[in-house]
Amino acid sequence: MSYISTRDAQTPPHRLSFEEVLLAGLARDGGLYVPEALPQLFAPTLAKFSGRSYAEIAVRVMEPFVGDALPADKLRALVEDAYRGFGHEAVAPLKQLGPSLWLLELFHGPTLAFKDYALQVVGRLFDAVLSRRGERVTIVGATSGDTGSAAIEACRDLDTVDIFILYPEGRVSEVQRRQMTTVASANVHTIAVQGTFDDCQDLVKAMFADEPFRDAHNLSAVNSINWARIMAQIVYYVTTAVALGAPSRPVGFSVPTGNFGNVYAAHAARRMGLPMGEVIVGTNRNDILARFLNEGSMTITGVEPSLSPSMDIQVSSNFERLYHELVGRDGKSVSSAFTEFRSSGTLPATERQWRDAQALFAAQRIDDEATKATIREVYRTTGELLDPHSAIAVAAAQKARRYPSVPMVALATAHPAKFPDAVEAAVGIRPKLPSRMADLLERKERTTVLPNDLATVEAFLRERARPVSGRAA
Ligand SMILES: *Cc1c(COP(=O)(O)O)cnc(C)c1O
Repeated sequence: MSYISTRDAQTPPHRLSFEEVLLAGLARDGGLYVPEALPQLFAPTLAKFSGRSYAEIAVRVMEPFVGDALPADKLRALVEDAYRGFGHEAVAPLKQLGPSLWLLELFHGPTLAFKDYALQVVGRLFDAVLSRRGERVTIVGATSGDTGSAAIEACRDLDTVDIFILYPEGRVSEVQRRQMTTVASANVHTIAVQGTFDDCQDLVKAMFADEPFRDAHNLSAVNSINWARIMAQIVYYVTTAVALGAPSRPVGFSVPTGNFGNVYAAHAARRMGLPMGEVIVGTNRNDILARFLNEGSMTITGVEPSLSPSMDIQVSSNFERLYHELVGRDGKSVSSAFTEFRSSGTLPATERQWRDAQALFAAQRIDDEATKATIREVYRTTGELLDPHSAIAVAAAQKARRYPSVPMVALATAHPAKFPDAVEAAVGIRPKLPSRMADLLERKERTTVLPNDLATVEAFLRERARPVSGRAA
């Protein structure tokens, strides 16, 4: 399988392998990588998935994307290992909330949020590829909470990776901080920056922009635009649809959306042939995607804090992959449109492109009050506690769906104990951490507080990062 950049304007386009796409993340021209053509899941193949384990289906779905980057038995072992530690035998179990409404629990990984489902695989893919090349990378990232811990859990103890995560001191929740700072692995480094999340992000960008520094430490990122993350997220749409009757009947999905990564994976699964009903984009008050899908214009406004912080985003980076499709995979149009978006704050889109997008996605904005009301309502009618992100998926499904006879699945992207304050405010109950992490609040923390200063942070990294080349292959 070959990959191209969404901004590639050459004919024929420059083609890359899975391995190159995995390690690079973002394309040099600023675009995102997409497969040149998606592999197809035909009905007989889907029918054979029935009764298979999550890991078995994952291997089948990912194999064509990975191609010859890894031998088949290696990929199988890697995927089985990635999901072995999950807290539920089914890995991504379904719960029924109503007559044809289901909840897909994507919070049984090590950090209790859906990002584990992709990152546990992506960390191991990095390790497999880097081991063969005899190389090491230094992963640097900024986090406002969830992504940092998921990346740390994905990279802990890997000999091929050192990971440094910057977070704003005093501005992440205690559970989120402890999930990062209590990981006792020599290759994991957390930095509490005396500043805001934006300061952390600026420091990371500045480190990447410092070319001698970037090259000396082989800096890398595992951010949400990496194709390998989308690939691993396609899997749970397939397992869910199969569990609810695919290929004989379609299933709809409602996805709480920030960077458009998770819901784009739903779309990719649909393009691969998975029979799908409606795909609903749920947003919080930061509703740029809902405004685009419902009104046709995508214009940036300021980010406002909400009860669902992992969706407090204005520019959804993965949207570029959909846009690429909407403009007929014309890299030149994508490139000029996103340059304009950056400078003017409005993404150019024709009536036709908007209508095409509307045919693919419904969208619903759910504010904090409606989020809390949904947490209360679902608790009252089913006894299930939802975290605020998952509540947005349920509320958006209830409001936007048009075909009640098609089963609808709302994605639960975080465990309620990850956002205990919001849940307690809604129903007066403080959700408990699962037993396997009940001692999180007692574990020993390890972190370093540093000023918001590039030279200081770079010196810290220089001192602790291991050499990047000359590893024994
Ligand atoms: C990251 C995250 C989201 C948003 O996912 P995207 O792929 O960025 O759309 C939703 N909920 C939770 C809990 C998250 O951590």
